[in-house]
Amino acid sequence: MTKLKNIAPLKKWFKGIGDSPLIIAGPCSAESEEQMLTTAKQIAALGKVKIFRTGIWKPRTRPGSFEGVGVQGLKWLQQVKKETGLLTAVEVARPEHIDLAVKYDVDVLWIGARTTANPFSVQELADHMKGIDKPVLVKNPINPDLQLWIGALERFNKAGIEKLAAVHRGFYPFESTSLRNIPKWEIPIELKSLCHNLPIICDPSHIAGSTDYIPEISQKAIDLNMDGLMIETHYNPLIALSDANQQLTPNELDYLLKTLIYKKVSTNDENFANALESLRNSIDSIDQQMIELLAKRMNVVEEIGKYKSQKQVTILQLRRWEKIVTSRVRLGKTLGLSEDFVKKLLQLVHKESIQRQTEVISKNQSSKE
Ligand code: PEP
Ligand code: MN
Repeated sequence: MTKLKNIAPLKKWFKGIGDSPLIIAGPCSAESEEQMLTTAKQIAALGKVKIFRTGIWKPRTRPGSFEGVGVQGLKWLQQVKKETGLLTAVEVARPEHIDLAVKYDVDVLWIGARTTANPFSVQELADHMKGIDKPVLVKNPINPDLQLWIGALERFNKAGIEKLAAVHRGFYPFESTSLRNIPKWEIPIELKSLCHNLPIICDPSHIAGSTDYIPEISQKAIDLNMDGLMIETHYNPLIALSDANQQLTPNELDYLLKTLIYKKVSTNDENFANALESLRNSIDSIDQQMIELLAKRMNVVEEIGKYKSQKQVTILQLRRWEKIVTSRVRLGKTLGLSEDFVKKLLQLVHKESIQRQTEVISKNQSSKE
């Protein structure tokens, strides 16, 4: 369980926010007054977006890229609010950012993934939020560390923030994947099961990294009963100064929001059906990772096959195989898996590995002939 207390439901945050998923949209970065107002007016015209997001100070992985326009962006944001009636949200990473956001009447503050990863920064920001009644969204840390995410939420909550939500934006992939960040859906699911009242908003843009995957990720978030979506939107993504590949146009956003399917739970017992669906989604995510890992293992196996072929070494190395079985069975036991199950699984994997290496070796031989 978490130590989060008195978490306010989203609908208590602002008047006019109902039970349907909260939609937050806006450009990755504030770039110019024209970009902000044009984008905001088109977004507001859809009638479905409550909060306009933008980055004023951009935490870039490496120096030298666009680092945000700073305070002047807050003036444009104030103008957006005045002209469209949208609520506004910015990322804050320093106490002075909070002061400026308050000065320019920003409605919602969010903590970026890189900041959540640092407890010193989070504590400093939480201390600074004491007495400031603004909702705070906490993005997951870059690395898949649920405790670090919960810790950041708890720090703000202890400082008196009850309008608190988590934002799931995926986790840094250590290998190349089609998505920019791995969703690891089981982590936000676990967070929800540890704190049922905590709203969780999905950020499909930073998970996807490309507009191609945004619909399927958004649908998945809705299927998981997430409480909202934060979607990067720019009136002309082609000229965006950051995250150009993942930003939708307001028209595309409109189409996405119209095509998302809000599923009905099929049994009368809604709690049971929700729990079942969450668990099934965890299984889907774990299976996907398992298959990806197996494919990765087979690639390594083939690499080894190439070496064996060069050095004319036999495919089956009994000693090595015995070691694998003993160590994996031991590991399995500590994790509650039976010896029989682990052995059978390894035998299947080993059979496929030998098959792969045989293919590599016979290919190498025939290319020599
Ligand atoms: C952003 O929302 O533009 C951003 C920088 O996101 P994250 O902190 O999730 O990388
Ligand atoms: Mn971005």
